[in-house]
Order: sequence, then C-alpha cells, then structure tokens
Amino acid sequence: MATRPEKRQGGTRIHPPPSGACQAAFAGSAAAAVQVVSVSKSYGHRRHRVDALQDVSVSFARGTLTAVMGLSGCGKSTLLQCAAGLDKPTAGSVRIGGTDLTRLSRRKLSVFRRERVGFVFQALNLVPTLSVAENIALPLRLDGRHVDHRRVREVAGQVGIAGQLRRLPDTLSGGQRQRVAVARALITDPWVIFADEPTAALDPYMSEAVLGLLRRAVDELHQTVVLVTHAPDVAAWADRVLLLDHGRLAGVRESPDPAGLAGDLRRLGAGEAAGHA
Ligand code: ADP
Ligand code: MG
Repeated sequence: MATRPEKRQGGTRIHPPPSGACQAAFAGSAAAAVQVVSVSKSYGHRRHRVDALQDVSVSFARGTLTAVMGLSGCGKSTLLQCAAGLDKPTAGSVRIGGTDLTRLSRRKLSVFRRERVGFVFQALNLVPTLSVAENIALPLRLDGRHVDHRRVREVAGQVGIAGQLRRLPDTLSGGQRQRVAVARALITDPWVIFADEPTAALDPYMSEAVLGLLRRAVDELHQTVVLVTHAPDVAAWADRVLLLDHGRLAGVRESPDPAGLAGDLRRLGAGEAAGHA
C-alpha cells in the first residue's frame, strides 16, 4: 500500500458539487491554474451517443494535487483529456493560466500544450523506436528546445530509471515504462501535470516514489497536478478528491483519507448495482 508520510487531520466530510451561482464562483477562482467551465463531452451520434461528461465545472488551484475517482467509464479520462486540451469539449470551456483552450487554433493549442501541460497517458504512448532518454526528451525536441542531457538524467533519477536511459521501452517492465512516461511529463516543467492512473502498473514502493515526486512538485515547485486513480490509498495523497458518477461531478472530498474514499467508491458501486437491478 502506498502510504502518505504525514497525514492531514479532519475535513473528511463529503461536499455536494457546487451548483448555480455558487458553481460559477467555484469555477472562477483567481488562483486557478485550470478552470473547467460547464464542460460536456459526447461521443458518437443518436442512439450510439455516449454522454461522457455532463456540465462539469471545476477549477484546479495552482500548487494543489487533485485526484479524480469514480467507477470505470464514469468519465475520468475524458475529463483529464478535455482539461488538458487533448480532446475538445462538445460544450463549455477550459482555461489554463487564463488562456481559453477551446478558442485556440489547432496549431496554437498544440504549441500551448507542449509548453505548459504535462500528460501521463493511461496507455503511456511511449515511442518504441526511441530510447528511454529520447522518450523523456521528446517534448523538448518536438518544441524545438535545447535538450539538456543532465536534466534528462536528473528527472530519470527522480523516478528511479537513471540506469535504463539507453534501453528501448519494449525491454522494460510495465512499472519502468510508467516511470518513463512520468519523467516525460516532468521534463518541460509544465504549469500543470495531468496523469491518468500513473501508479496503476507500479509496485507499492515505486508507487510511493512516484506519488512523492508529484507531491514535491506541488509542495516545493508550486506545480499543479491532477491525477486519476482507482486506489483510495493513492488518492489520499491528494489535497482534494473529485468523485465522478456517470459523467457528472458527484462530490468533492477535502483532505481525503483512504477509508472515507473506499466508502465513497462502495456507495457509487452500490448505486450502479441498484440502477441495473
Ligand atoms: P473512465 O476513464 O472513467 O473509465 P472514460 O472517460 O474513458 O471513462 O469514458 C467515459 C465514457 O465515454 C465511457 O462510456 C466510454 O465508453 C466513452 N468513451 C470514451 N472515449 C470514447 C471514444 N473515443 N469514443 C466513444 N466513446 C468513448
Ligand atoms: Mg480511464
């Protein structure tokens, strides 16, 4: 189990999602690094339509770590992809550091993303023909930036893969590949790091190392991190947990603890089971 070293006390009450005027204030906080405003996302058409997100408003304050939880298929990855500008919402808007991503041209959006956003994909998306070092440096190269090899080694060391820099991704374990993906998201010092289940393939020791790294990025470098996880003990490292249910924000838990989160997931699961009974 990944155990967060120092636990925060109290604040285990689950809040209902904000609505109406309160929702606008919630989504418009001045210190927000990311503002998701009334975002909906549908896939497919007519009877094949899936409403993956429905009118979700949330903001992620600068220098905070937020975890997103919920049952499979509830829209966690879709929320991350929309918030990061990787997917275009069907309705609503997304701002990062004051820039409205939904108004940028495709080209400007991809430049903005490369400079300001780090993303750890659920499927990792490493390039199989590039070495570990080249994969980590890829966002810099794509952006035409100078690659500082010392910095590549430093970031690789932080995630515990400094000894694997010359290897190809296919020769690594799942956990090592996941760490390469995390290092690649950190290399550009982005404003925001989005990570979709970044500890899913890691053993408890490495899971703790990666979470500790993301936590330090928030606490010491004042970065903003949003991660998706199924594991209450991972989510407990966050300052705040968002619970999604069928594409809607179902609750916000401040100062989360593993037992409370496990209860939240059980309740969501029970609701799902009752819905299908
Ligand atoms: P989660 O990450 O919480 O498991 P997702 O955000 O991946 O959920 O998916 C939310 C819903 O949207 C699911 O019903 C899923 O099947 C659907 N979905 C996600 N991506 C696509 C896509 N590209 N095309 C069609 N449906 C999709
Ligand atoms: Mg997902």
